[in-house]
Amino acid sequence: MTFSDLGLSADLLRAIDAQGYTTPTPIQRQAIPAVLQGGDLLASAQTGTGKTAGFTLPMLQRLSGGKRPAKRGVRALVLTPTRELAAQVGESVRDYGRHLPLTSHVIFGGVGQQPQVDAIRPGLDILVATPGRLLDLHQQGHVDLSGIEILVLDEADRMLDMGFIHDIKKVLKLVPPQRQNLLFSATFSNEIQALANKLLDAPTLIEVARRNTTAETVDQAVYRVDREKKRDLLAHLISAHRWYQVLVFTRTKHGANRLAEHLGKQDIPAMAIHGNKSQSARTRALSAFKAGELQVLVATDIAARGLDIDELPHVVNFELPNVAEDYVHRIGRTGRAGNDGQAVSLVCVDEHGLLNNIERLIKRDLEKHIEPGFEPDPNAKPEPIENGRGNRGGGRGRNGGGGNGSGGRGGKPQQAQGGRGSDDGQRPSRRRRRGGQGRQQA
Ligand code: AMP
Repeated sequence: MTFSDLGLSADLLRAIDAQGYTTPTPIQRQAIPAVLQGGDLLASAQTGTGKTAGFTLPMLQRLSGGKRPAKRGVRALVLTPTRELAAQVGESVRDYGRHLPLTSHVIFGGVGQQPQVDAIRPGLDILVATPGRLLDLHQQGHVDLSGIEILVLDEADRMLDMGFIHDIKKVLKLVPPQRQNLLFSATFSNEIQALANKLLDAPTLIEVARRNTTAETVDQAVYRVDREKKRDLLAHLISAHRWYQVLVFTRTKHGANRLAEHLGKQDIPAMAIHGNKSQSARTRALSAFKAGELQVLVATDIAARGLDIDELPHVVNFELPNVAEDYVHRIGRTGRAGNDGQAVSLVCVDEHGLLNNIERLIKRDLEKHIEPGFEPDPNAKPEPIENGRGNRGGGRGRNGGGGNGSGGRGGKPQQAQGGRGSDDGQRPSRRRRRGGQGRQQA
């Protein structure tokens, strides 16, 4: 099957050709015709499956036939959890829509709002936004959502995880009842199901990867090691195997900084990206990493969410995530679009509970290794896990969640208590005023 079999216009086919795509991915084969028909869609798809093109291409085609947007009006709204994902979706919209007379813009927090206000003023065909900044601009009267024809919630599970449910509900009150809704999520909790029931009308269901399973093209392994030896083991593995373009996940911002510094001292070029870094620092680090100039990028979960790095060969879990679903998201960075990838997790005695949760979720046992010279102490006692939550200044927090490190989470994503995630760039003082903060500060 080719893209032209899917009913896409010549202008879109030209743009797809310029991207070098020859064959539609499974999600594209199913989503493109369904969205072109105008119905709602509920798609279970991880990053790396080609989902962005799966909704962007048919959305562009549907909009290209219609009327111009009203002043300050928007015809299609794509909501994403993070700035990085918003920027990437915006880039796809521009790339695929390059031969169409449609206007688009990306907005998120943490940067000045005036250029965003200026871009929206004449009206836009497509607006890609994180929820916080969108609602801010709406409150100030800069954007009119009453003419929305298509609403896309991308990575909806992560938006809920980050505490955006209230913001999403507010947005739903601002859009007209007659519209097309597309909901994408990597995992399907009861909360996502509830959102889908509220939002969608007789949706087409698409499930490309089985729920909560990890990509088949990713080779996954666990190295058992003592907590204190993880940094040295990581430096050793990177040097011994000559890994390049390694994305390393840490649980905390502080941990990301310390690890990047440590690797740097071992002559392994590394930078950290997380929510405390300015947008320009994050963009700089990401471009250097993508260009192959930076060997290691150390990231927290929220900062790394949505990073689109083609053919990323190595993902390392320096620490296992507290929430088992995050493991699936993390390793979704590698083995993308059919390329082989390797995901390695460094696991110490504190994390055995977390490892069990992950293996239960993905329904397979991960291969365990011990690297000579880094044998774990069989008598080591588990300690509570540092999780970085409950602090606002990038310091450390302790979950005090007992010895096995599962922190009482049972592998289920935790909903924020009425707060909002941090990656929309909201200032902490403002989040506090609104009564709480998101699940995780990354
Ligand atoms: P996504 O899941 O949307 O984040 O896309 C993952 C990656 O796959 C991106 O780098 C896309 O550029 C790439 N991609 C999307 N569709 C195709 C395709 N049909 N053939 C090859 N690569 C693709």
